[in-house]
Amino acid sequence: MIYLDNAGTTKMFEKCIEVHKLYSCENYFNPSAVNSYSVAVSKQIVDAERYFLSRLGAKEGNILFTGCATESNNLAIRGSLRNGKYEYVFSAGEHPSVFNLAKKLQLEGFLVHIVPLLSDGTVDLKALESVLNDKTRLVSVMHVNNETGAVNDLEKISALKNKLCPKAFLHVDGVQGFMKIPVSLAKTNIDLYSFSGHKFHAPKGVAGLYVKNKSALKNLFEGGGQQYSLRSGTENVSGIMQMKCACENIDVEKNLENTMRLQTLFNQTLLAESKNVGINSLLFDIKTGQCFDAVGACQKDDWKNIENSILIRNYGGSPYIENLVFVGVKGETMLHVLDQNGVIVGLGSACSAKKAGNRVLENIGLSKDLVISSIRVSFNAYMTDSEIVEAAKIVCKTYKNLLERMN
Ligand code: PLP
Repeated sequence: MIYLDNAGTTKMFEKCIEVHKLYSCENYFNPSAVNSYSVAVSKQIVDAERYFLSRLGAKEGNILFTGCATESNNLAIRGSLRNGKYEYVFSAGEHPSVFNLAKKLQLEGFLVHIVPLLSDGTVDLKALESVLNDKTRLVSVMHVNNETGAVNDLEKISALKNKLCPKAFLHVDGVQGFMKIPVSLAKTNIDLYSFSGHKFHAPKGVAGLYVKNKSALKNLFEGGGQQYSLRSGTENVSGIMQMKCACENIDVEKNLENTMRLQTLFNQTLLAESKNVGINSLLFDIKTGQCFDAVGACQKDDWKNIENSILIRNYGGSPYIENLVFVGVKGETMLHVLDQNGVIVGLGSACSAKKAGNRVLENIGLSKDLVISSIRVSFNAYMTDSEIVEAAKIVCKTYKNLLERMN
């Protein structure tokens, strides 16, 4: 099986198992207790907190450890709500854990603005600028889009926020960014940043929320007062330590470079192999609107009239995620037949994969037909070249067979 759904989740590093054993069977003490063993464990959590702050490039602030990024996002947003004539700003590309909450807040009577995306999948900064004002309490945008790989310019977004509503908080859902592309919270002046262990080879069920200023946040649950009284409940010590272990084994720059190489290899194999099996394959550069095939460039609108084509939508963003369109075949059908043929891909966010349509792709202007025909492939930095080449070949053959079956 070749796994190309790494934006959904990643395989855990085996090293984490040793850490799990250490903190579950030996150093299993409750960090809130006052015995010397517990105090030692609680110190290690403080160390872990410092470690994550440094990996986030933060000069100040704290980390709250949570159970998943869905929780981190909810805590960041709900914890920032205040009574009064405030406004809340979200982007149309947000993950359901943010987007559905934004919709719920609207129903609860909060004034919510949803900012659209540009065709390259990033937040429309002009539209963002037009809704920010001195009543804005919170701006919540994602770092890397989980469906398209589009990367938002956090420096620009933060500069806009500082200019138009300096008192507002900036929350960033960093789940597809952290440990994949460089992050510097100090540079970008971000107040809240969510991340999730299982997206970077740590176990499921442990995540974090960076909080620049603790007094700006309110707790969602009452309890024993752990984690600065902002997230009560006994800490998942083993999970936190495993998440730290995973980070310690990741070189972000090196992985980024290798993943770019793997993505290029995948796309080049798709282009070459399509020719082999007699179908078209077009690389669509979303930034310039140009289409390229194996032999040369073609015009932006040409692909609209082309049948039997794979459209490789290159977002020029994170190389970890890419969107492919198989003209004339349903993405869902591709996914299931690829699964039978030994290649696992995704349809988009796992949380919304079972729902019809795709809000994010529709928002960036992809026609309904193309949305229905799209799949998401997502890489990890540790894949081998032969896996990548084989997967691309299987993708082309599967598409060709499906087209033949339909005719
Ligand atoms: N935000 C983004 C951008 C995601 O891609 C995901 C998961 O796919 C989440 C949030 C939710 O993360 P978790 O599974 O830890 O709740």
